[in-house]
Amino acid sequence: MGIIDNLAKRLFNQATVISKKVIAKNAFHLKIQGDSLSNLQYITGEHLRILVGFNLTDNLKDKVRTYSIWHYDPIQRTIDLAICTHSDGIGSRWIEQLEVGQEVYFSNPKGKFIVDNSADYYLLIGDASALAHLYEINRNLIAKKDVKGFFYSNHRSELFNDIDGSQPFNFYELSENPVNQLITLIEKTLPTSHGKGIVYVGGDGRVCVALNQYFKQKGWNKHQIKVKPFWMPHKKGLE
Ligand SMILES: Cc1cc2nc3c(=O)[nH]c(=O)nc-3n(C[C@H](O)[C@H](O)[C@H](O)COP(=O)(O)OP(=O)(O)OC[C@H]3O[C@@H](n4cnc5c(N)ncnc54)[C@H](O)[C@@H]3O)c2cc1C
Repeated sequence: MGIIDNLAKRLFNQATVISKKVIAKNAFHLKIQGDSLSNLQYITGEHLRILVGFNLTDNLKDKVRTYSIWHYDPIQRTIDLAICTHSDGIGSRWIEQLEVGQEVYFSNPKGKFIVDNSADYYLLIGDASALAHLYEINRNLIAKKDVKGFFYSNHRSELFNDIDGSQPFNFYELSENPVNQLITLIEKTLPTSHGKGIVYVGGDGRVCVALNQYFKQKGWNKHQIKVKPFWMPHKKGLE
């Protein structure tokens, strides 16, 4: 192991893999546990930066990848993550090789794509990479809200239920970058929604850009539009 790997391991938190399961075609559910998870400062919607590249590469850009906290339990000292492998990148290789009993190294939770309880209704939109993130937001809205979720993938088998087994969102089989189909779904939904809306869009950066523009044109303000590109074709390891 190189100097950088050793240094990074000392700077990062550490926890042990206690479970790893296949939950969909191209997606794993990972559960980690450790004393460093007993008292994390965590706001719903924050993510971890995980050291995925040690022992696998010397390329600094490939040392760390970003994954959302699907569920945090400070009493059990566990974090659940849902990790997709559509990319064939270093992160997907890391999760495929990771085994129960091994250590995982990660930053403190951070991020701005977090829960906002100020709306009357919510639209949650994305691909498989954003499902865990937006399930967690949905579960942690404090009052019962009108929530519609539109999630897509090439195949239904790539989309998975929430951690409690529920499936609160609508799933669609759509090819990559399906902006027009998503706008059609949004336009069917908006007339039935009342009060202030907030939209969260995560996943493919092209969809994020297009839907950001769409909602701006519809007169939504920046506090109502929450957009986070999780990946972009030909770019590696977006944060
Ligand atoms: C705030 C945030 C939270 C995130 N949370 C999660 C999460 O909970 N679960 C999760 O699986 N991912 C999540 N991601 C996305 C994840 O960090 C990226 O998919 C990352 O690129 C994966 O790294 P990699 O090494 O596997 O692929 P990379 O080496 O980064 O990319 C290799 C190639 O694959 C493409 N690619 C990357 N991801 C995808 C994808 N999902 N579908 C199709 N092509 C892809 C890239 O564009 C690139 O061309 C999150 C990203 C952000 C910014």
